[in-house]
Amino acid sequence: MKAVCWNGPVDIKVEDVPDPKILNPRDAVVRITATAICGSDLHLYNGFIPTLQKGDILGHEFMGEVMEVGREVKNLRVGQKVVVPFCIACGRCWYCQNELYSLCDNSNPNAWMAEKLFGHSPAGLFGYSHMTGGYAGGQAEYVRVPFADVGPLPVPDGIEDEKVLFLSDIFPTGWMAAENAEIQPGDTVAVWGCGPVGQFAIQSAWMMGAGRVIAIDRFPERLLLAQSWGRAEIIDYEEVDSVIDTLRDMTGGRGPDRCIDAVGMEAHGHTLDALYDKAKQAVRMETDRPHVLREAIMVCRKGGTLSVPGVYGGFIDKFPMGAVMNKGLTIKTGQTHMQRYMRPLLEKVLNGEIDLSKIITHRLDLDDAPGAYATFKKKEDHCIKVVMKPGSNGHAHRHNGSGNGRGDAHA
Ligand code: NAD
Ligand code: ZN
Repeated sequence: MKAVCWNGPVDIKVEDVPDPKILNPRDAVVRITATAICGSDLHLYNGFIPTLQKGDILGHEFMGEVMEVGREVKNLRVGQKVVVPFCIACGRCWYCQNELYSLCDNSNPNAWMAEKLFGHSPAGLFGYSHMTGGYAGGQAEYVRVPFADVGPLPVPDGIEDEKVLFLSDIFPTGWMAAENAEIQPGDTVAVWGCGPVGQFAIQSAWMMGAGRVIAIDRFPERLLLAQSWGRAEIIDYEEVDSVIDTLRDMTGGRGPDRCIDAVGMEAHGHTLDALYDKAKQAVRMETDRPHVLREAIMVCRKGGTLSVPGVYGGFIDKFPMGAVMNKGLTIKTGQTHMQRYMRPLLEKVLNGEIDLSKIITHRLDLDDAPGAYATFKKKEDHCIKVVMKPGSNGHAHRHNGSGNGRGDAHA
């Protein structure tokens, strides 16, 4: 089959690799009908997440048709259309029983690697380095889905892929970001980053009763979408001297009640601290650039909440812990507990409360992945979200059930 393979920083290729097959009784094999590139993939693409290996198949936002199921998968049938969540969860451990699916104790066969860095291991993730399992991702023609009796969400026949694809990650992620922000009716919510995650956090903030939403970014088309579709007030951070002062002014000195960092470890900026991060990250003395985190902490109102869906990988400097403590802030974060949110959020899609396809700017073939990654990284051509459909150029491939796919994960 064809798959998008990582060959090193900023170097991906579409390669021919062995087809995946069922390895365990709870596996399924899914033929991918649509897959997307996520902001999280950019951290891999740019080389900021350790333990990737040459040839690893990327992709954790995907959906498709069930081709084969293992003997213990009783809830899916061949031919069914499913959306697959990005985190892999066994459904049986203490964490899964408590709906903390992205913290599943059984789905990461390389837990020891993550334990070295984090103390404990999060769940296995599709296409997201060996530290989170080494699972082959879904930017491919086919994928093996472990614990298929727990993760994949069947969707109604006939619904367009692009109306439900983002249930695989970014809609639930924006939703959990808003939930973690502990929004009370009437609250002012500030959202850093108007990428796909920021856009869905904005939509979700309104659904949870926000009174005002203020969105921060620098790309006009992203700010415009936040303003039009998201009904947000906007700040172009390149047009103001200080985001902190601007937000303070907009809130009568008090600061936003809830702050959402939908940017993560690769924040840009022109302030002194942002330049410091850039220099230290370049020489590998700091893994992440926490500029947005610092701004959010400094401007959040006393007793407010900071929600962090943005991904961080390692260690940060100049973290204003004194402000967190003395202002009595709450910080909530995490990889999204996908399996908790997919079903209720599908309901919102089906009853017309939200159109997930609003953010799509690029519809391409899987063969176009190298260019698509470059465009999305640089946010060229007004790119907000790329969806790729294998075989839309007319080179479909037939699954023959041979080979065992890439990756070292046999969970
Ligand atoms: P994206 O790259 O499309 O968007 C990031 C946006 O942040 C860009 O528009 C960029 O201009 C903006 N930005 C950069 N620096 C900024 C600053 N200083 N102030 C304000 N905005 C700034 O990515 P995305 O797909 O929207 O993802 C956003 C983040 O969410 C990433 O870190 C991604 O890894 C993370 N994510 C987390 C989860 C999860 O489970 N927690 C899931 C999906 C994505
Ligand atoms: Zn993602």
